[in-house]
Amino acid sequence: MGKVSESILQFKSELEPFGATLVAISKTKPVELIREGYETGHLHFGENKVQELVDKQQKLPPEIRWHMVGHLQRNKVKYIAPFVHLIHSVDSLKLLQEINKQAIKHDRVISILLQVHIAMESTKFGLNESELLELLNREEFRMLKNVRVEGLMGMATNTNDRTQISFEFSSLKKIYDKVTTQFDHPAIQMTHLSMGMTGDYKIALENGSTMIRIGSAIFGERNY
Ligand SMILES: *Cc1c(COP(=O)(O)O)cnc(C)c1O
Repeated sequence: MGKVSESILQFKSELEPFGATLVAISKTKPVELIREGYETGHLHFGENKVQELVDKQQKLPPEIRWHMVGHLQRNKVKYIAPFVHLIHSVDSLKLLQEINKQAIKHDRVISILLQVHIAMESTKFGLNESELLELLNREEFRMLKNVRVEGLMGMATNTNDRTQISFEFSSLKKIYDKVTTQFDHPAIQMTHLSMGMTGDYKIALENGSTMIRIGSAIFGERNY
């Protein structure tokens, strides 16, 4: 067995007691390695760039459930709208409106996560808690019929300080629980809390993650 399939199977058994989902992040890696992972029966793969996502989707089996985890520009939504399984990185009403518009064109409902800014770094995208709650209360959001908010996504600070990372993930979990209990609307169906990557997924699972996004631990280090 190859290294990719071995590592996917290992992650899946590690995740089983948590009931969490693995999204294998294949950015910069060739389709052959994705196919190797797919052949274990694994279906969830993710990319962070639209062009690469579209190219790979065309070359690989249609059963693969593609996740978009990177920053998404409004003018590129149309390319992924026909097939994307879950967009993790939505952080504005305008982007949601565009996703809704493209979803209507393809006669489907697109599932999304709202990205929440939890890290100390100012470079990472995402809404803060009050922006998130405000968005979910907006009439313009509530009118949208072809998008479904299925949860939240967040990225912790890139640090070795486990206490800091744990604090950030637990604060996202609190926001997630708040939205889950306080909002009752058909467009809000909270099921996924996407947090945790290669360096911090164990801390994320301890803090209630239901979906981890693993790249380098599966596919090896990336060379840009
Ligand atoms: C690249 C990426 C990951 C995976 O990162 P690794 O550290 O390689 O596991 C997860 N989430 C997002 C948003 C990414 O861009």
